[in-house]
Amino acid sequence: MPKIHFTSAPKNLALHTGDNPELVRKNRSELQEELHVDSLQFMHQTHSDVVAMVNAHSDRDINADALITQTPGLGLAVLVADCIPLLLSSPTCVAAVHVGRVGMTNGIIDKTLDAMEGLGATGIFAWIGPSICGSCYEVSPEMYEEVTTFFPGSATTSAKHCLDLPRGTIAILRERGIDTHALGLCTVENSQFFSHRRDKSLGRQAGVICL
Ligand SMILES: [Zn+2]
Repeated sequence: MPKIHFTSAPKNLALHTGDNPELVRKNRSELQEELHVDSLQFMHQTHSDVVAMVNAHSDRDINADALITQTPGLGLAVLVADCIPLLLSSPTCVAAVHVGRVGMTNGIIDKTLDAMEGLGATGIFAWIGPSICGSCYEVSPEMYEEVTTFFPGSATTSAKHCLDLPRGTIAILRERGIDTHALGLCTVENSQFFSHRRDKSLGRQAGVICL
């Protein structure tokens, strides 16, 4: 059974937001020890549709928004502060995926699943960690229209024009026959998590999965 873990504030795990890099590296190595994994691979995330295969740990954060590995002991981490940390497990292959509005419309979820299935993964199961909820993520009416046209699962009401990305993600996964366990915790409403929308937080928590 793969290891699944979601971190919270105040330990920032992101190197790119202007925090002291020494402190971030210390937080990362403490997390690695706490989880009893051989290494932790982080990404430099840009809301792209890039899915990277990782066989061995790299000291540099990999340019990607999804990581896949078949290597036991190699932990994969996705950094978030409102976006969805999506973890995909199977007995032979795991993935960590960064799912925000842009990533969802880029098709990052399907691309990651295609790559996992290409590696022969079966019995895939999904976890959705703490992220902004469908009551808190108000966007412009135009943006709401644009996203919900293609991803009706993320719709709430056009009067409020809030996107429900966790629900949209669950709908995409269900279409692929994948069951999801969602924690149902909103980063904006719960101060134990970093939230960019709530306070322009520079901190990032992580979702981690390890075979
Ligand atoms: Zn909320």
